[in-house]
Amino acid sequence: MKRDVTVKANLHTHTFRCHHARGNDEDYVLAAIENGYTKLGFSDHTPFPYDNGYVNRTKMLPEELDGYVQSVLSLKEKYKDKIEILLGLECEAVPRFFPYLKEISKDMDYLILGNHGDWSIGEPYGDHLTKPWQFHRYFATAVEAMESGLFLYLAHPDLFLAGYPEFDEEAKYISRLLCREANRLKIPLEYNLYGLIKCKNYTTLGYPYSGFWEIAAEENVTAVVGVDAHDPKEFGISDLDSAKRYLRSLGIRVLDDPMDAKK
Ligand SMILES: [Zn+2]
Ligand SMILES: [Zn+2]
Repeated sequence: MKRDVTVKANLHTHTFRCHHARGNDEDYVLAAIENGYTKLGFSDHTPFPYDNGYVNRTKMLPEELDGYVQSVLSLKEKYKDKIEILLGLECEAVPRFFPYLKEISKDMDYLILGNHGDWSIGEPYGDHLTKPWQFHRYFATAVEAMESGLFLYLAHPDLFLAGYPEFDEEAKYISRLLCREANRLKIPLEYNLYGLIKCKNYTTLGYPYSGFWEIAAEENVTAVVGVDAHDPKEFGISDLDSAKRYLRSLGIRVLDDPMDAKK
């Protein structure tokens, strides 16, 4: 098997267009190079063409998509001798927009799935799930999205635990079911390094959550690691290699290059 042993890849990178990430696009590339990355995928939060007048302020706007694509492609060309740059998007599990995603994915190297919820119908997940029955919508939409065949991997699968107080039987049950569905559909799960920064002082479970990953190991999932950079500085703060070592110490198979999930 051909394998580049030196690959250090991150496919989860945002830009200022999502209104909650900072820095210019080129600064992410320079920070990735400086920290030894050999492959960098941009995957900013996807705009959805809402038809009810709803505007999502934590995503790229539809009219910004072309500029995003042009910027990433020009950086790909400019830095082609230093780092491999890929063009992607992080998308929500909102099934009514899957035909739209299928269309725009033709111009992309990959899409990743980040199931934060559907604010246009008042249904955020993220930090907002505090009752066990609320897990089921997160789970059902994630599975439907994984079944669509549109996505390379599921980012922060344990996001549903972020605002939940304890790893009780219901949390364990949904964790196990999600791992089983990901395996059935051959979708890797992402250990999310931005979560480590964001949830450091949470009194709830936060993510990535160790109990989830212990179950993931029992279920033999395949994992990838994502920086989920919202600031170029995070390439220097987040430790990709130690995250991989942690997952492997649990017995989890980790893809050094998440693009290998496509093969
Ligand atoms: Zn974000
Ligand atoms: Zn993200």
